[in-house]
Amino acid sequence: MTLTRRGSFHLTLFLVLLLVAGFAATSFVSFLISRQSIRDGIVQQELPLTSDNVYSEIQKDLVRPVFVSSMMASDTFLRHWVLQGEVDSTRIAQYLADVKTRFGAVTTFFVSDRTHRYYYPEGVLKTVSRAEPRDTWFWRVRDMKEPYETNVDPDLARHDAMTIFINYRVFDFDGRFLGAAGIGLTVEAVRSLVHDYQVQYNRRVYFVDTAGRITLSADPARPTDTDLKTAKWLPWSSFPAPAPGGSATVDYRESGSHFLVSIRYIPELKWYLVVEKDEGHALEGIRSVLWWSLALCLGATLVVVLVFWMTAGGYQRRLETQAWTDPLTNLANRQALDVGLEQILREARRSQESLSLGIVDADHFKTVNDRFGHSAGDESLRNLAVLLGSGIREGDLIGRWGGEEFLILLRRCGLDDARKRFTALVETVDHGLWKDPRGAVTVSVGVAPALASDSVQTWLARADRALYRAKEAGRHRVEVEGGEP
Ligand code: GH3
Ligand code: MG
Ligand code: MG
Repeated sequence: MTLTRRGSFHLTLFLVLLLVAGFAATSFVSFLISRQSIRDGIVQQELPLTSDNVYSEIQKDLVRPVFVSSMMASDTFLRHWVLQGEVDSTRIAQYLADVKTRFGAVTTFFVSDRTHRYYYPEGVLKTVSRAEPRDTWFWRVRDMKEPYETNVDPDLARHDAMTIFINYRVFDFDGRFLGAAGIGLTVEAVRSLVHDYQVQYNRRVYFVDTAGRITLSADPARPTDTDLKTAKWLPWSSFPAPAPGGSATVDYRESGSHFLVSIRYIPELKWYLVVEKDEGHALEGIRSVLWWSLALCLGATLVVVLVFWMTAGGYQRRLETQAWTDPLTNLANRQALDVGLEQILREARRSQESLSLGIVDADHFKTVNDRFGHSAGDESLRNLAVLLGSGIREGDLIGRWGGEEFLILLRRCGLDDARKRFTALVETVDHGLWKDPRGAVTVSVGVAPALASDSVQTWLARADRALYRAKEAGRHRVEVEGGEP
């Protein structure tokens, strides 16, 4: 019995493991596939698209200023006026004011290399000096090879508001350096653009110059002026430089978050545009899908196991019951008796309980069959089983030993007691109510109390001998074989 129960338990456990492993594997694989496609989407579409949009906005904002500055640098009036000795600063101021209003710049300027005067729309702002840190840009522009640079600096003429300057080199008609001219525009437009992307699309957008310094950022976590070469989070120096016009994609981890990064070079600003996205937000959706599908898997597994337990388990339990029951009388069958006898004898020996065993055999039963037919015989056996069962106590064991023989085991019952109780049982059968009186039979009983030295076999053998004697002595009686000499 225990063996089959354990088998069914193992089968159920195997089923649970199989289902859980199968479901979990499917969920995880689909999670991994989704994650990869989300990552690919971010890296191949989202980030480049943001980068493209920001870039085209910047181009819109910067291309014109660069163009205007280049126009100023090649302006004939400006160059003539400088070459003629910078006489009457109101004229150049008028020119600068005119350019400023015409193109909607926040400021315009010309710095002369000869006089070091800084002209702006209202006249002369100051004289630049090599010693002044704020003026170092001029000497940088003076010595650089490129025709212009873009520089973000506070503007003295506008109460130190942060300004993007286009510093264009101006040459005379023989190619000699005359100074730097250009316009300034507010960084607010670019900053608010960057900020919008940050807020709307949950992306970090900032600019880095070629030296690896953040030049413009709307993100407090990526403050302006941070030197990326020394910053721990983004290993800037190990990043591949993006191909001209293209963008490079990298990723890095910072305090548990995984950032996907797109970097592109913006030649107009000589800056890199960096767009980052924390993939965590994007993965939240599929993470919750994963948890839900795992929960559903668990639910489905439970249902399957429950159904299995109820159908297969119930079927098996029915089979087990059938295997231990005699179908005619519904009493325990021979097999169940064998197991029960062994077990009870073992337990009784441990607890020193007295046991007695009786083999009950119907007298002349053959004649019942012969005279009234086999089914009447069956009916008689069923009747006899009920009568015998009514005469025993709880804890006692009764079963069909075979044919018209029954076995009854009485617990806490010694030899004398057993003789009395089996005699009473013989009388119960005598006076029993027989549904079909033609099948009424008497019984003979061979009784044997269990001895300390007994095995089930020796015990049964003595009961059998007692039964033989009961038959020999004329049937319808109880004989006891105690085992004493
Ligand atoms: P005794 O008093 O010596 O025990 O005589 P008996 O006729 O009972 O003994 P015997 O062993 O010669 O015959 C037993 C009969 O019981 C023979 C068999 O047909 C009948 N029998 C055994 N099992 C069944 C059963 O399941 N149904 C029916 N109808 N008869 C059965
Ligand atoms: Mg018999
Ligand atoms: Mg018989």
